[in-house]
Amino acid sequence: MISGKNIHKAYGTVQVLKGVDIEIAKGEVVSIVGPSGSGKSTLLHILGTLDKPDTGSVVMNQTPISALSGKQLAAFRNKNIGFVFQFHHLLPEFSALENVCIPAWLSGGRKKEVAENAKELLTILGVDHRLENKPNELSGGEQQRVAVARALINRPGIIFADEPTGNLDTSNARELHRLFFDLRERFQQTFLIVTHNEELAQLSDRALHMKDGLIV
Ligand code: ADP
Ligand code: MG
Repeated sequence: MISGKNIHKAYGTVQVLKGVDIEIAKGEVVSIVGPSGSGKSTLLHILGTLDKPDTGSVVMNQTPISALSGKQLAAFRNKNIGFVFQFHHLLPEFSALENVCIPAWLSGGRKKEVAENAKELLTILGVDHRLENKPNELSGGEQQRVAVARALINRPGIIFADEPTGNLDTSNARELHRLFFDLRERFQQTFLIVTHNEELAQLSDRALHMKDGLIV
């Protein structure tokens, strides 16, 4: 699904990624672990097309990312990639259901169909009792599950998650991890997850350890 080769990235004079190679197959749940500052988020942003490498290549679903620009890249991202961050970034003035629908509306989905898909995802994620509530009326765990539903609404091949349980307590973190594996079973959903959670790293198909700009 994704192949990154010899990825280098510097910010100013600081070399953050020093030649990272990574391959992820469809349906894999892979975690990235390692100390703060080792380049995990930078790698995730580059693989997720939010940032560009200085040298090296990223190929996703047979598409070389560097060949895309501007609108093409945004369209590719919207269709193929879902993101989940430590803080959910839900839009406060919209309901849970609307937050999940928005990315599909933006890519031209029909209102009724989109709402049905969103409800199905929110049901799978166990937050279908909160459809009409605003984000600030949800618990932290519920907010994050809505954010996962939003990441899934366009049925992207891969979800990139950057410390998705960093802001959750142990039981909510466990629940979210369980849901990731449930989604893998249901949709053959692929996940690349940056995490400090030992349990998740253990459960993953592979845990990649980053240190000082390299996967070691
Ligand atoms: P991690 O996610 O493993 O904690 P990051 O990828 O966020 O690490 O950051 C790696 C290094 O790159 C850090 O030293 C960080 O300060 C630096 N860095 C990250 N993003 C930027 C940026 N936009 N500008 C300058 N330096 C950055
Ligand atoms: Mg980080």
